[in-house]
Amino acid sequence: MIRQLRSEFDDGKGALWAARRRLRDYAKIGRVLLLQRIVIYSAAIFLAGAYYDWRVALVFYALTLAGEIYDGATFRKILVTQQWNDTTVRVLKRDIYVGTVISASVISLFCISVAVQQGPETGHFMPLFMLFSAAVFAAINNHHFLPVLALRLSIYVATILYIPIRDLWIVRPPLSSELWLHFFTVLFVLGFIVECSRSFLVGYTAMLRNRRALEEEHERTKAAYNAKTQFLSTVSHELRTPLTSIKGSLEIVSSGVLGAPPEKMAKPLDIATRNARRLADLVNDLLLLQKAEAGKIDYFFETADVGALVQEVLERFRPYADNKNISVFTNTETADHWARFDKVRLDQVITNLLSNAAKFSDDGGEVRVKISRHDGSIRISVEDDGIGIADNTRHKIFEEFSQVDSSNARKFEGTGLGLNISKRIVEAHGGKIDFLSKLGVGSTFFVDLPEEDAPTQDDRVAA
Ligand code: ADP
Repeated sequence: MIRQLRSEFDDGKGALWAARRRLRDYAKIGRVLLLQRIVIYSAAIFLAGAYYDWRVALVFYALTLAGEIYDGATFRKILVTQQWNDTTVRVLKRDIYVGTVISASVISLFCISVAVQQGPETGHFMPLFMLFSAAVFAAINNHHFLPVLALRLSIYVATILYIPIRDLWIVRPPLSSELWLHFFTVLFVLGFIVECSRSFLVGYTAMLRNRRALEEEHERTKAAYNAKTQFLSTVSHELRTPLTSIKGSLEIVSSGVLGAPPEKMAKPLDIATRNARRLADLVNDLLLLQKAEAGKIDYFFETADVGALVQEVLERFRPYADNKNISVFTNTETADHWARFDKVRLDQVITNLLSNAAKFSDDGGEVRVKISRHDGSIRISVEDDGIGIADNTRHKIFEEFSQVDSSNARKFEGTGLGLNISKRIVEAHGGKIDFLSKLGVGSTFFVDLPEEDAPTQDDRVAA
């Protein structure tokens, strides 16, 4: 099982990725536990000094600290490495092996020295417990590389076996002696340590495999997303030029400047002109969406009167509303609502709100446009008595290509892009767009922009 898991990354193209991950994980956990290890070793060696021999304890203390300093330097080296290749991996692994041999040997020799000082037939409670704890600690925290873990455990296991075997060798007791019982117990516990290490190693390797799969999936999604964006923007650009000339030509023919078109042509001409406009709007929205997603919309902010802009938009909107038999009411004549905005972009947002209000209202409906002050912001609100929006579809409204339901898409023209783009534009102004609505009663969409002071005469001259 372990061999199978090991070969999974060590063969094939993921080997370098896996080695880098394992080394970094090893170093991170090693660094986090450095202090904890030093405290444990200090306490154990202090106790051994107090109960047995101070000089021996101090020698081992110095050796333990030297090992920890070496490990600390290795962890640092791993964590600061930026350029990864096979040579870096080899060198860093070699450093880990050296550190492992140093620290496992120092702990083992310390435990042997305590066991020797204790003499045979004492049970060796302290050195054996220390060795078992060190082995379990390694299984839990050093399972990133099978060979490193195996090397460390081999040193501990050899020492754990050496201590009772040495007693048996010196005392040569009969099989009924407790010394043999100690030895057998040690064998059972060793089995437990091996199983524990295997299980941590298998778990870690499986986790690594999942992480790799997730990273690959993320890369694939990113590539697909980039390809989609590139495709959309190329197609939209290619469509825009011919579409603009088709739309322009149809508008000229429909306008009658080239002579009144025959009556029979009026209807198909009207359908063609409307659909060419729709298509041109869609292409423009798609291009703008690509720009917004890439954060590439250019804004030309200036402090201006919001009311004046809304008036301009309303003038353009009224013929469309009249056509749909929608009455438009407004309080925007009152001046002095200043904010910093890009006229072209904010115009687009208000136009979108107005055309939605008209689109989703019944024949003979009303649209009310207001400007007011709200919590330090200038609020532009567009209210209608149309179909309204159900609470459970609220979350969809500002999403890309989102229309509340697909039957709407057929009943009401639209792309589901307008509000998504509007939200991006309003947020780029440091503002907020939202709505209140009740299904079957109507909706109020509003845009809040931070209020600005009216420009002084000097500002206007400077501008
Ligand atoms: P489009 O209008 O092109 O479908 P929008 O992004 O402007 O796209 O609007 C998204 C959806 O939000 C619309 O399809 C509609 O379902 C809902 N919606 C927007 N404005 C209103 C409104 N005033 N009344 C009811 N539903 C609305």
